[in-house]
Amino acid sequence: MKKALAFDIGGTKIYSTIIDETGNVIGEIDKFSTPKTLDKIKQILKEQISKYENKVDAIAIATAGAVNNDNTSVIGSTGNLPKGYSSIDFQGLSTKRVFLENDANAAAWAEYKIGASRGTNVSVMLTLGTGVGGGIIINDRMLKGKSGAAGEMHFKMYPDKRRKCTCGSWDCFEIYASGTALKLDAEEALHDKNVTTYDVIDGAKKGNKKMVDILERWQNDIIVGIKGLTNLFDPDCIVLSGSMAQFVDIKHVEQEVNSDIVTTPTSIRLATAGNYSGMIGAALMALKG
Ligand SMILES: [Zn+2]
Repeated sequence: MKKALAFDIGGTKIYSTIIDETGNVIGEIDKFSTPKTLDKIKQILKEQISKYENKVDAIAIATAGAVNNDNTSVIGSTGNLPKGYSSIDFQGLSTKRVFLENDANAAAWAEYKIGASRGTNVSVMLTLGTGVGGGIIINDRMLKGKSGAAGEMHFKMYPDKRRKCTCGSWDCFEIYASGTALKLDAEEALHDKNVTTYDVIDGAKKGNKKMVDILERWQNDIIVGIKGLTNLFDPDCIVLSGSMAQFVDIKHVEQEVNSDIVTTPTSIRLATAGNYSGMIGAALMALKG
């Protein structure tokens, strides 16, 4: 059975393990804090690769940032990784094929192959974490766009410059649907810079009316975004993943979305491929031929 050495390179952590062609994690999970310099990131990759490359058929990297259509390099700048990250010659690190994909795209592929969107033709995945990632699969293909950057969730929610997004632009879906967004919602509602997402979640659970309203406002923005995505892509399902997905009322969102769209009803689902879905998706893509 074919195997890949997989990495997940994010702004705070780098994970690495071995995954087989059916998506099973068969190695130990190695975990590193993401270094602040390019050289140290390369050093981690090189060390892992030299340890394992003789045992695998490919190197599969799920990474923050947009990845080109040849799956060989990072094209988009990623604010949370060191400057020059996109200049790394990933193929130069191994004698085996090195395959890259955007982390959210890779995770969406894992859901499609072994998780919540298995068996569908059209699916959209939203990763709700500190930021928002996205992956769109249409008829067995990842939607990559002309350059590779399709599926980024930076479409506009409001026209009047209310909130600056992490990408530098204004009022993107990401800055209304992320964990960061929930904190901003709370800061605005309570005029308190120190309020945390935990305060909102915990307060809402205990029935605090203000916190319930803040959580609802956040969820309503997610509903608005999902309605747009549903009308654009007419998906079989929308999969929600990431650390914030558990705070979304899935059934309520599904009802609201389906009551106000021009397509036939869609299904909203929680992700099931697990914490290593980025590495699994990248490995499945790298090993598929
Ligand atoms: Zn943005």
